[in-house]
Order: sequence, then C-alpha cells, then structure tokens
Amino acid sequence: MVDLNGQYEAIKDQVNSSFSTILQTSAFINGPEVHSFQKELENYLDVKHVIPCANGTDALQIAMMGLDLKPGDEIITADFTFAATVEVIALLQLTPVLVDVHPDTFNIDPKAIERAITAKTKAIVPVHLFGQCANMDAILALAEKYNLYVIEDNAQAIGANYTHATGKKQKAGVIGHVAATSFFPSKNLGAYGDGGAIFTNDDSLAHTLRGIVNHGMYERYHHDVVGVNSRLDSLQAAVLRAKLPLLNEYNAKRRDTARKYNLAFKNIAHIETPITVNGCEGICDTCDCHVFHQYTLKITNGKRDALVKHLGEHGIPCGVYYPIPLHKQKAYVDDRYNDADFPVTNELVQQVISLPMHTELDDEQISFITDTVITFIQ
Ligand SMILES: *Cc1c(COP(=O)(O)O)cnc(C)c1O
Repeated sequence: MVDLNGQYEAIKDQVNSSFSTILQTSAFINGPEVHSFQKELENYLDVKHVIPCANGTDALQIAMMGLDLKPGDEIITADFTFAATVEVIALLQLTPVLVDVHPDTFNIDPKAIERAITAKTKAIVPVHLFGQCANMDAILALAEKYNLYVIEDNAQAIGANYTHATGKKQKAGVIGHVAATSFFPSKNLGAYGDGGAIFTNDDSLAHTLRGIVNHGMYERYHHDVVGVNSRLDSLQAAVLRAKLPLLNEYNAKRRDTARKYNLAFKNIAHIETPITVNGCEGICDTCDCHVFHQYTLKITNGKRDALVKHLGEHGIPCGVYYPIPLHKQKAYVDDRYNDADFPVTNELVQQVISLPMHTELDDEQISFITDTVITFIQ
C-alpha cells in the first residue's frame, strides 16, 4: 500500500547526518530542527503560524481547545472520515453532529451542513478526504452566515491547492480559522514516527495554542490554562525538513500514478474513478488540487468485497477507507441521527476500495494492479 524506502534512499545522507548531530547534542525536545521546520512549513504554506505537536489527533484536539468552545456546543463534521476527527470532539465533551458527504468528492456536503445547523452549532470541521479539499467556498459562506469556526482536518491533503471561485489559490489548511495535520509515516508528508501540526493566521489563537501544547504554560511554571503535553521531537523534525522540499515532487508523482490508474479504468463498466473538482477536472499537470493521499475507486456492481479478496490472493494490497459510517459506530451512535439522512455514506462504505498509492510505484506494478482489477470486474 505504501513504500517508504525509496524516499529514504534519496534523503539518507541528510537524515543520517541530522540524526547524528541531534544524538551528539542531545537536543531531543524543542531543538533547533523543530524551530527550523516550523519556519520552513510556514513559508511553504504561506501561513503566519505553524504549531508543531505530537500527532494529528492531538493537533485536532488542541485546535479545538484553543477556541472559545464549551461542553454541549455542537460541532458539525463528516460521517465518512477517520474516527480521529469525531473522537476529539467527543473527548472535549463537545457534541459531534455527523452529516452526509458528496458522492463525487467524498467530502462533507454543504447542503447537509446547513440542514444540521442549530442555535448550539459553533464550528464546522471539513476533512479534506483522500487529498482533495472540501467545498471551502460554500463552507466559508455558511460559517460567515451563522458565525461559526472552520477547523480544517488537513491530515490527508498537505500540499493540495484550493482555488476559490474568485480565482484566488490557497494551500489546504490555511483557508479556515485553524487547521490540523498529521505527519504519520504514510501521510503525504510523513515522519519516521508520529508527528502533527496546527496552522493558523490568527496571532492571538497561535499564542493560546503554543501554551496549550506545553501544559498551558506561557511563562515557566505559570499554568494559565489547562494544557496537554504534545511535542514534535527533533528527530522527526529532521526527517520532515529533509522531505518538505520534495513534497511537491512527491505529490506530482502521486498525481501521475492516479492519471495512469484513471486511464486504465476509463470506460470499464462498474468502476468509477475519482472525480477531481475546483477547476481541476481530469487531474491537470500544473496544479495541485488533488494530492491523492488515497486513490479510491467505487465498485458499483456489488463485488467490492470479492475484489478485496481477489487482490489479496494476487499479492496486491488494498484498503477500504472507511467500512462503517461513523453514525453507526458504537462510540458515536446518537438518537439525533436518522439512517435515511446518510444515503451517500451508507452507499460509499459498500463501494469504495483504495489501491496502492505512493511515490515509488512503477509502470509495471501499475499495469499488474489495473489488469488484475479489470479482469476480475469485467
Ligand atoms: C491520519 C488522520 C488523522 C490523525 O492523525 P494521527 O497523526 O494518526 O493522529 C486525523 N484525521 C484524518 C482524516 C486522518 O487521516
């Protein structure tokens, strides 16, 4: 599914030499590598503040802790996402409100968001699923109309561009009030262990967040708010510094692979290939509107599970992201939900399959994968 060794080979000298310096200076926590990575990522994203932390789930939680939210406030997010998004809402005793997604992009549906807004709604958490931004123009308009925060879950879309209706382009993660990302090894910008970061252009929120990640301390041993301990360690920062200059290249390689997959599956009955939007129909060469964290097909003849088994038997890894809608997960069931309000998610969980997607796939592997899929489905 993922092959990280090829990337390591290319950055080996730099990573090994940074590791050796860190080991010799013992600057394991908050060392100069962390600070430099923070600045370099701020530059790359064109955002005022990057706050590194321990992982993407913490990043989401800390972003929410920094906003003016209280128990019982309702936070709207997608039914079709990784559980981390909704987990942190529940942990903070906020009320998650799950809504359906759009069938083309798998991203949260602005119409469903508007239907779910109540007097208690305080924030929307769009997840840029599989590497493509949610419909941010519509989400920002709703946030403005109802006075809501927008917290982007950008764990899967680092480096993606979003083109607003006005033509203005922004990087995913700097569009809302605050965003969270993950540097889990298999993400598009992956460390060699856990890592995460929060992004914001709001100076005062950034100050609050920097204290929260460090036990609520703004001055040594003065604890002004309840915080957490969530740090990016120096070794991970060194890996991320080596990879950040290559991120656009990595994402271009993923798009290239996606284009080859699309071409092979074109006009094959019962297979629907990913749909790119935001002025990027057809995966163009020049823009980064989809960074393909996952390459996800819809299998529309009811044979998805059989295909998973078939690929397994032929030594081809694949994944089903995600097999169960969050509104049906034991931890998140709630009387407020009516199963009929989630027609898209309920169908997607039965149709989606993600194929191997990383920067090291060659044409021979791609053909083997596509041939195996096509022979089975036809
Ligand atoms: C990976 C992921 C997270 C969590 O990141 P971790 O670093 O694993 O904690 C959150 N949201 C989404 C959508 C993710 O894909």
